[in-house]
This record gives sequence, C-alpha cells and structure tokens, in this order.
Amino acid sequence: MSAALPRSEHGSRVPGWYLPEEPAKEPAGVPAPEQVAVPPALRGEIEAHLAAYPERRSAIMPALKAAQRHYGWCSPQAIEAVAAVMELTPAELEAVATFYDMLETEPRPRERHDIFVCTNISCSLRGADALYEALLAATEGQESLNVRSFECLGACELAPMASIDGSYVGPLQREDIPTLLDDLAAGREALPDKQLARRPCADPAAREPAPKKGSGSRTTKLLFAGIDEPGLATLAVYRSRGGYEALAKARAMSAAEVLEQIEASALRGRGGAGFQMGKKISFLPKGAAEKYLVCNADESEPGTFKDRELIQKSPHMLIEGIAIAAHAAEIERAFIYIRGEYERQADILEAALQEAQQEGLVGAPGGEERPIVVVHRGAGAYICGEETGLLDSLEGKRGNPRLKPPFPAVQGLYQGPTLINNVETLATLPRIIAMGGERYAQLGTETSTGTKIVSVSGHVRRPGNYEIELGIPAREIIYGLAGGPPEGREVKCWFPGGSSSPVLTAAELDLPYDFDTLAKAGTMLGSGAIIVVDDATPIIDVALKVAKFYAHESCGKCTPCREGTRWTQKMLERMAAGEATPMDIEIMASAQENIIGNCLCVLGDAMAMPIGSIVRRFRAELEEQIESARQRAQGAVA
Ligand code: SF4
Repeated sequence: MSAALPRSEHGSRVPGWYLPEEPAKEPAGVPAPEQVAVPPALRGEIEAHLAAYPERRSAIMPALKAAQRHYGWCSPQAIEAVAAVMELTPAELEAVATFYDMLETEPRPRERHDIFVCTNISCSLRGADALYEALLAATEGQESLNVRSFECLGACELAPMASIDGSYVGPLQREDIPTLLDDLAAGREALPDKQLARRPCADPAAREPAPKKGSGSRTTKLLFAGIDEPGLATLAVYRSRGGYEALAKARAMSAAEVLEQIEASALRGRGGAGFQMGKKISFLPKGAAEKYLVCNADESEPGTFKDRELIQKSPHMLIEGIAIAAHAAEIERAFIYIRGEYERQADILEAALQEAQQEGLVGAPGGEERPIVVVHRGAGAYICGEETGLLDSLEGKRGNPRLKPPFPAVQGLYQGPTLINNVETLATLPRIIAMGGERYAQLGTETSTGTKIVSVSGHVRRPGNYEIELGIPAREIIYGLAGGPPEGREVKCWFPGGSSSPVLTAAELDLPYDFDTLAKAGTMLGSGAIIVVDDATPIIDVALKVAKFYAHESCGKCTPCREGTRWTQKMLERMAAGEATPMDIEIMASAQENIIGNCLCVLGDAMAMPIGSIVRRFRAELEEQIESARQRAQGAVA
C-alpha cells in the first residue's frame, strides 16, 4: 500500500511530504435510516430541498446548511443525518462540505459572533487592513468573537466594511470598535446606523433627475430609474409601476419573436464576458429533451456590487427577466445561484419569488406553471462565479471548473443544454421588451448598446452604483458621478472592469467606457466595476493585493494557475520586503505571459492580466519601490 500524502489547503496532494501509514479504514456506506435518529424538522427541511431539484445531489448544499443550523456545525452527526435522508455516503457529503467556506467542518461555540472584515482591494484602499488589525487586537483572547479577514463581500460602497453575523456594516472606523463590541456583548444589533439593510433606499446621486439628451451629462439613472422606490421589492408596488407588463407582452408573442427582440437589442452579457445574449440563446439546440436556465448571481469579482443592489431593491425585475428569457429559449426550469454571503438579499429574493409563484407568474417545484424557478444559495467559494464551477456546485459537487468544450449551451447543467446569464443581463430584458429591441439598441454605441450599471469604488468621494449609457467618457463616471479622488489627490490608475481587468492610467480617463474601446486599450469592461487608485498609493501594494486574492481563490486544479498565482504573490512579497532586485520584475512579467491562456478557467488569467498591466504601465515606480525597500532592509540589518 502506498504511503498517505497529506492534503494541501485545496485538497490536492503535496508532493514530497509523507506521513506514516495509517491502517486503512472501511469507507462508511449509506447509513440505514433506522440507525440514524434524524430530527423530524431537519428531515422535513431536507425532503423539501430534495423536491426542489430534478437530481437529488443538488440538494446537498442546502441540506448541509440545514444540518449545520441544527447541530451548530457540519459534525459527523450532522453529516450522518443528511446522508441517511439523502441516501448518500458520509464521504460524499464530506467531500462537498470541505470545499465551501461557509460550511463549518470544525466545531464552533454556539454563542459565537462572526466578524468578517473585507480586506480585498476596494476596502483595503480605504483602510481595511489597519481596521482589521485593530479589531484583532481589541478582541484578542475572546473566544466568542470570531474575527477573520475576508475577500470581497460585494459591498464596496460601504468600504471599509464587515459582515457581522451576516449583516453588512460600514463604513467602519477604528472609533467604531468599542461600540461594536459593546453592542455584541449586550446582545444588541451591531452598529444599527451603519447597517446596509437600514440605509435609505436611494443615495443622493441616484435621485438626481435624468438630464435631457443633449443638455450635457448623460450619466444618471436611465432604464433602471425608479429602482430606489421604497417597497419595490414587493409584488404590489412592482406591479403598480408597470411590473410584469413586459412579461405579458412577451408571452403574447412567439418564442421566436421574443428572441428577435433580444437579438435586435444586441444586449451583451453584463457579467464579464460581454457575449451577446441573443446569440447565446440561438446556440441552444432546438427541441432538446430538457434545457435549463441558470442565473449567475454569484457576484464575486472584487469591486462588483451591482447585482446585490438590483436583487435587494428590485427582485421582481430579475424574476420577470428570467421568465422572459425562459420563454424566448423555450426553457421550463430555471435556477438562481446566489452567492452565500448575500443572505439578506437571498431572503428578499425568495420572498419575491414566492409572491410571483403564488400569482402564477412563474412556477414552483411540483406545480403546473412554467418556468419553475428555484433559488439556490452558494456557500462561499469565489470560483463558483465561473460558469462551469457554478454548474458543478449546483449539481451538488465541489465547485471545480470544467474543461471546455463542451460549452454549457451544449452540455451544461445535468448534461443538458444550459443558458447562463448574469443578474443585470436578465433584469434588463423587461425594459427591452417594453421599449422594443431596436429602440434599446439606439442607446449606447453601435457595438455596446444600452445602459450599464457601473459599480465605482476605491479612492472616490461617492462610491456607489451608477447607471450610465455605454460609451460616455470614463472621466464622467469617475469624476462626474463618483466625485473623483479625495481633495488634493489625483487618479494614479483604475481598474475598468473589476480586479481582474488590466489597469489603465490617468491619461486614459477620457476613453469612452464601452466594451470595444476598452478591449482596444488592452483591457476590458468586465463586470463594470471601476476601482480607482489614487496617487498616494504605492503600486506594489495594489499588485500584491490582487495577487494574494487570486492565489487564495485558485482551486488548484491546473498547474499554471495554482503555482503561478502563489509564486507571483511570493515574488511581490519579496519585492515589498526588500529581498528582490529590479531584475525580478522581468521574471515576474514573463511568468504572467506563461499563465495567460494556459489555464482551465479564467482565474489564472484574472491575476496575470492586471499584474502584467501594472508591470507595463508602472515599471519605473516598481523599480523605485523595490530599490527603496532594499535600502530600508539593508539599513535595518546594518
Ligand atoms: Fe482552478 Fe485556477 Fe485552474 Fe481555474 S485556472 S481550474 S481556478 S487552478
């Protein structure tokens, strides 16, 4: 028998490490139901989840979450209970549970508070690292407080922010720490004035009336005007504002006619790839046995928080869009995969979905109406934002990306043809049907039609989501809407489409913000998340933050990404510590070239592209920072 190898943090074997042999254990089979005492309430909950999916395994994640709520963590007892009801082996469930951050496979105190401080780039630019250190110091030795740094939580407008027992709170200052700890100790809601859920519906910028065309700026709410209306998340208010009229209009048309409208609009995906939605639908095989629609609400590209706001404020807009897309593509079953951290938004979405199902606007599992729509909550894994990783996760597996081809349009969920679209893309459909595809295409530019919600964060005075007409100069967004950097500072660089997009400099602020112009400039519009970095920030800090994030999130399946992201992080740490020379920049740049295009999914490229662009655009500054770090380190030794 070969010696057992310990597992790395991602579950892969670590070459060169050997542990003493352990006696082989018989893997546990499916527990006999009569041998496991499953609490009736938990059994009922798991059985309800099983009924929501055509394949049993898909219920694994919700079933494990239910068991975790019941037992406090995914204990052996919890796993056994789920295994007995789902007729799976404990090993199958453990394999899933150990992949996701939000499924706890170690015991935790019942009365523990979770304080997750986002230290990703947008929060870090606004002081999150110091805040996190201060919180750690203030809570040292308190076992009931679980303080952790976290990757982007999708609320960059609150930066620096934290999730406290699932509630989003920000912006946080060091001075807030004593009140926060007092609130938790007294069993009160933490920092109620800073809770996202209690914020007024609209920020002042969003309330500005849309200027008339030709009278100056075209950068205010356009198609999504009215989204800040209080109560819009309810069916009554949504309907009173014309909600679901577009669905009725679409259903009076044939599927082909609806598809014609979507094609005429030339709507491009708002999640990152920018592929035309009409084309995606036309790739689905006609008359196939069962096709699926999957809405990707696993918003996790750092700097992006538009889908969270859309779902929170207007969930029916998304549900209506899903029903329209399902009609155009002749799909009868749809899933909304929402990221696990968006717990409040998932609650809002499920409540809205229930209302829509009760009115027969969309279907529920076991019912007659179509399409059947199910909300599936993720459990904390960035890689599930990648469409094939998401599909595996939805099928109840670890969320590992798949090899492409076959593409999801041919072989996706449960091996069936699958249409995958982002929240914003689907939420735009009611507007397209209402106004007509051709009219929609008159907005924006010829190849980047329509409007886009842009999330602006980092060093700007008014971070937030802004709807813009595609093609306006980026300067209008960064300075006109978001207020530009703080007094006395200038833009050093900006990520135009989330932290995976190559950076641009201040000299490129007048570029039109649209898909093709940004592609020609060597970057991408991506998810439409602009992260602004001011001239007081060392560029090496920005590069290190980006590399750390992707190294942490790499699933480890392919070598260029697994090794390349970690190596880049280590190299940047050496540069920052004064242990490198400017010559190492060259080596790092060539490593990025070797990562791009050689990975199974986009995650490896997502690190290599911005790091490569930082080297190209800020080489002189990097050299200077490496040199001064070296001098500091030598001075310290002397
Ligand atoms: Fe996993 Fe990275 Fe490979 Fe994607 S590119 S499959 S995240 S190792």
